[in-house]
Amino acid sequence: MTQTLQPPAICVFLGSSFGTDPAYRDAAEQFGQCLAARNLGLVYGGGSVGLMGVLADAVLAADGRVIGVLPEALMAREVGHLGLTELIIEPSMHARKATMASRCGAFAVLPGGIGTLEEMFEVATWIQLEILTKPIGILNVQGFYDPLLVFLDQLVDKGFLKTVHRDILIVESDPERLLERLLSTRTPAAGKWIPERS
Ligand code: AMP
Repeated sequence: MTQTLQPPAICVFLGSSFGTDPAYRDAAEQFGQCLAARNLGLVYGGGSVGLMGVLADAVLAADGRVIGVLPEALMAREVGHLGLTELIIEPSMHARKATMASRCGAFAVLPGGIGTLEEMFEVATWIQLEILTKPIGILNVQGFYDPLLVFLDQLVDKGFLKTVHRDILIVESDPERLLERLLSTRTPAAGKWIPERS
């Protein structure tokens, strides 16, 4: 039977690698401890590897609850975390992402690679199109995401992104501050599809 996480859960996207700086591992561990201390459940990609495994283990070690959502293909490669509160196996990456989005109240992004970026941008796109109205924020560990944030500002400067949509991505370097903002933020009401002709 599927469990419902009450109070709400945070869905976290982060690397299946550790990265080169131990600060990333420390940040994943600290974020997991913060979630458990606030009685917030964790929804994540279900892996046991890299920062994903560090985060899940930190929440579990602090008696928190963790739902992992893994596509069949990754389970078959034996990378699924077998000690979770609940492990959901989905047939595809698309189904996995939809389930992750439905099981949380907000999203957080920690350091990661292209898998993490893809997940973050898909959620931000859903919010931009008003398909989803849940906040998303980046934990910017030691400026990891600074170059990406500069590029997003360039998208605004060049007319491809509205400021209101750039601001969908909350950015904080402190985990407690990020959680406070995620728990109190409403996503912007301004839609993407405002007619524009110039
Ligand atoms: P990356 O940032 O490229 O390391 O990819 C991390 C994201 O891709 C995670 O949030 C997962 O959704 C997915 N992913 C990549 N590798 C794995 C894995 N071994 N187990 C579970 N999910 C994974």
